[in-house]
Amino acid sequence: MNLVIFGPPGAGKGTQSKFIVKKYNLFQLSTGEFLREEIKKQTELGIKIASIVNSGLLVSDDIVAKLIEKTVSNKSYKNKIIFDGYPRNLPQAKNLNRILDKYNQKIDVVLKLSVNLDTIKKRISGRFTCSICGKIYNEFSNPAPKNTNCCSSKFLQKRGDDTVEVATKRFETYEKATEPLLDFYKNLNLLKVINGERPINQIYDEISQIMALIEGWLYIITPYKYAFETLTH
Ligand code: AMP
Repeated sequence: MNLVIFGPPGAGKGTQSKFIVKKYNLFQLSTGEFLREEIKKQTELGIKIASIVNSGLLVSDDIVAKLIEKTVSNKSYKNKIIFDGYPRNLPQAKNLNRILDKYNQKIDVVLKLSVNLDTIKKRISGRFTCSICGKIYNEFSNPAPKNTNCCSSKFLQKRGDDTVEVATKRFETYEKATEPLLDFYKNLNLLKVINGERPINQIYDEISQIMALIEGWLYIITPYKYAFETLTH
């Protein structure tokens, strides 16, 4: 199963993706995390990316497209990818369909997490990530547990773009560039809109129900699809 998860900054894409990855043994392709890794390396490209990311804009489609093809073409991840933060505009959505098609794959479902700007500001100002395990916490709504080895305060880091000013700009970028994906995926009959304002476990429960339905459906149709492909090739 391949799925796309999208929504405004602070909607909980990363948090929910990590739960889904664990339960369904998928590969999380987070373009944001990939870009942050590049920034950390302080390469010439990383420095260029940092200035774009920290101003709340999108980096160029070409930079992220290379990463997408590299992952989709990897046989170990075939039909096992969760696209977290990609696509973020219509050209990227069309590019994703083209690449998946090239490797005989498709998207099974698109999850859209809806959250308003006030919630985003609150979430982003309290967000920290553990630099060891990648878990995401919020000092107000989901604090890191005490007495743990890796998620202790010395390992919790704040993202450079997690300020209220940059988050507001990122929200504007989202509305302008990413919201049009709603209609794109609605027309392809793939879209599920989820209220992302609720507690993490409630959102995850709804996602799990959607995933169970899709899994059941794939279980039924896959043998027929396989037989059809064998006959027609
Ligand atoms: P995220 O971790 O998904 O919130 O992404 C953080 C930042 O990385 C975004 O605000 C963008 O500047 C950049 N970014 C992430 N994914 C993409 C993408 N698919 N296309 C362009 N820029 C991206």
